[in-house]
Amino acid sequence: MSHIVLEARDVRYRYQRGREAICGVSFHFRRGEKIALVGPNGAGKSTLLQMFNGMIRPDTGMMLFDNEPIRYDTTSLRQIRRRVGFVLQNPDRQIIAPTVFQDVAFGPTNLGYNEEMVKDVVATALRHVGLAGFDRRPPYQLSGGEKKRVAIAGVLAMDPDVLVFAEPTSGLDPSGSEDLMELLDELNHDGKTIVISTHDVELAYPWADRAILLAEGKIIKEDVPDVAFGNAKFVRMAHLSVPTLLELSAELAKRGFTIPERKPRSVLDMVHIIENHVHGSCCHPAPGTIMVCNVDAGELSMVPAWLKVHPGIVVGAMGTRAKQCAAMDQIALEFTYGVIDKCILRALRGHDTLILTSDSMVRRVNQRVDAYCHESGIHISVQLLDLVLDSANEKCGMNP
Ligand code: ADP
Repeated sequence: MSHIVLEARDVRYRYQRGREAICGVSFHFRRGEKIALVGPNGAGKSTLLQMFNGMIRPDTGMMLFDNEPIRYDTTSLRQIRRRVGFVLQNPDRQIIAPTVFQDVAFGPTNLGYNEEMVKDVVATALRHVGLAGFDRRPPYQLSGGEKKRVAIAGVLAMDPDVLVFAEPTSGLDPSGSEDLMELLDELNHDGKTIVISTHDVELAYPWADRAILLAEGKIIKEDVPDVAFGNAKFVRMAHLSVPTLLELSAELAKRGFTIPERKPRSVLDMVHIIENHVHGSCCHPAPGTIMVCNVDAGELSMVPAWLKVHPGIVVGAMGTRAKQCAAMDQIALEFTYGVIDKCILRALRGHDTLILTSDSMVRRVNQRVDAYCHESGIHISVQLLDLVLDSANEKCGMNP
């Protein structure tokens, strides 16, 4: 099991004019986890988040980073703020410079990087968040989602281990929210520990590896999401609501449906429960194939022509770079969020799909589909598009 990156030991905090905001809280986060801190307004989420990088110092108790107590002298604080990046709820409060480049360059410049290194890390960070080419743009001209990405790039440019997001989707429209949550997944896939605060249970439930329910400065429950949100008493105590998928699965259980021990976290899980109940597991059509195109391997150029001769195939793009590549090549996308599950759902109806994604995410497609096949006993084939094309060419005698 990976090691503990952040820890709170019985921390308490009271604002100068106010009641105790954090009342004896302990938890730890492991490296690579996705954590959701969930609670109503005033629960203490923001206060707690600000303790993660030393912005707030607990009155009693202790915060630890990498098993070392956080220290509050200037040098130590600079160090911890490099390791734990903080993305504020409102990007207008985080973005300070007149151009995107200058803003993202602010952190690395302060760290003493030379000009070349600054250019390098800024370019990488902007590419990562899907804003390559935005360097000279004044931030005030950007959309809410783009500003959020600039703020994230500014934090990424310091290459932190942990990224903390206060209410990450606040102010974003549904599609902007989906894109942002996918970016968080990408960052996590690249090894970052991600912590979000939110009062949105529907957002936290399917996304998090672990949820911490917080109310009135105390932890009400901390567990995997289906357990943390699965107990109505705890959910009520935290002034939250039970996620729809959990509520629905509880109702189905009362009607004799078999609910697996791991409760449904997605529409795909729910469809599986219902189909098994209605048809048993034997009645699926022959599943379709999920094809994967690695945009980093230069396979994308073949896709438009290939789609023309396979008009029934719908396409999804996973990850910032894949979506940008699809836009450049004018490939119509049916799915841009929850892409793997949606392709599995289509495969279960016997249809083939194509996922555009980047190098590092190809493995994730295989892992998710394998996990589904293992759980369901249904075999869905995943094929790399270049292999499909090679074998088609061979059949036509084009590739002897
Ligand atoms: P949340 O982020 O969950 O909405 P906060 O951490 O902002 O909760 O607030 C926790 C408690 O601390 C609330 O009772 C809030 O009124 C109080 N509080 C927050 N900020 C301040 C402040 N600057 N001064 C006094 N009290 C504050």
